[in-house]
Amino acid sequence: MASRVREIHDALVSKKTSAREVLDGHLSIIKKRDLETHAFLDVHEERAYREAARVDEKIARGEKIDILAGIPVALKDNICVKGTRATAASKILEDYTAAYDAHVVEKLRLASAVIVGKTNLDEFAMGGSTENSAFGPTKNPHDSSRVAGGSSGGSAAAVASGMAPVALGSDTGGSIRQPASFCGVVGFKPSYGRVSRSGLIAMASSLDQIGTFASSVEDAEILFRAIEGKDPMDMTSVETHESVSDKKEYVIGVPEAFLASGPDARVLDLMQKSFKKAESQSASWRIKFEKIDLPSAPYALACYYIIMPAEVSSNLARFDGMRYAHRAKADTLFGAYERTREEGFGSEVKRRIAIGTYVLSHGYYDAYYLQAQRVRTLIVSDFTRAFEKVDAVVFPTTPSHAFKIGEKSSDPLAMYLEDIYTIQANLAGLPAISIPLGKVENLPVGIQFIGKRFGDYALLNFAKRFEAALA
Ligand code: GLN
Repeated sequence: MASRVREIHDALVSKKTSAREVLDGHLSIIKKRDLETHAFLDVHEERAYREAARVDEKIARGEKIDILAGIPVALKDNICVKGTRATAASKILEDYTAAYDAHVVEKLRLASAVIVGKTNLDEFAMGGSTENSAFGPTKNPHDSSRVAGGSSGGSAAAVASGMAPVALGSDTGGSIRQPASFCGVVGFKPSYGRVSRSGLIAMASSLDQIGTFASSVEDAEILFRAIEGKDPMDMTSVETHESVSDKKEYVIGVPEAFLASGPDARVLDLMQKSFKKAESQSASWRIKFEKIDLPSAPYALACYYIIMPAEVSSNLARFDGMRYAHRAKADTLFGAYERTREEGFGSEVKRRIAIGTYVLSHGYYDAYYLQAQRVRTLIVSDFTRAFEKVDAVVFPTTPSHAFKIGEKSSDPLAMYLEDIYTIQANLAGLPAISIPLGKVENLPVGIQFIGKRFGDYALLNFAKRFEAALA
């Protein structure tokens, strides 16, 4: 796929268009399509025009502009933009105004990007369909009877329908890659620690990572380059000095045993075909597939659904109605806590707080939480072993294509199974990317590559080549 960002940048620099016109174009698509799609919770029209005007002034003064200057960017509504609402799609934060900019927002401002608005998500990023949003689901731009995926469904749908060329999301267990797969766009989750989480409303802090959506790998990389790096406000963020060499041969690990019993046969078939295509079409580089073993992979889902709710229950304790956000009226202090949470949280959030509290409680901590942490270590060592002989590991992104709205919303386990191929990268802190693979029943599905820890640019380089081979 050609780079939309470069295309717009070149048109701005050569004065074929202005940042204002670029914004006009995207806002008119939002106006036309978003009543149906519901990708956005808030559109920051006035602010965006002010930001675009500043870019146009720079260009008029003959100043050199950044590659992202004047490029509309949509942000998942769990990323804080000072002075605007940050709801995390929860009733409890419905009227909450962010007091500061997230680190990634500061970085976007430095690059003079134009923030168009905030996109829909599952409440507090908990879910895989955006149906858990307190403000109604996002619909899949390819078929409005189906989900856009989640939890960053709004960002994926916005990019897929041309409402924004690029967007940010967050990925705790697949929330960037899964909706990217369902909507037919590229979704990139960086290594844990590569992008600051400061100003991201926390879900599960050892797994959360901000990442990018775009219609090409190149654009996903451009946006990533702008936001990555160490931030003193996030102690888990790191300075990396990744030097990327131009490789002539890539070895890709295929966990055959793990994949044998899982995904839709049509997805596996598309994967096989894509491997053949990449093998035969690449003149300047070679790709080799090697069978690998990830013996702990089948336990990742259970492990994730213990560690994640444990962290959720602790992170969400701050929403007690005392400090900020929604506060219910009650006669007693405990009554106020109870009513605030009863009214403010949706049922999936409550379920996870309950599970998390349970697995951390005295008597169950060893059996569940500690055991899950041990399994997490095994998952990490599986990948470490695999990366001794391969450059990346391939998985499908999702078991199949986008499901119908309502199809899984009353069956949490069926919904959780959607995450089976995405949670591994979060548990092991690895970078992972979903790129469009093809269609099943006329609906997009993605293929996922997982890279070495802090080998983000190496993974993106490979993904660009694979994407080109599929085109
Ligand atoms: N679908 C997963 C969950 O419900 C992933 C969520 C995410 O990555 N934020 O937990």
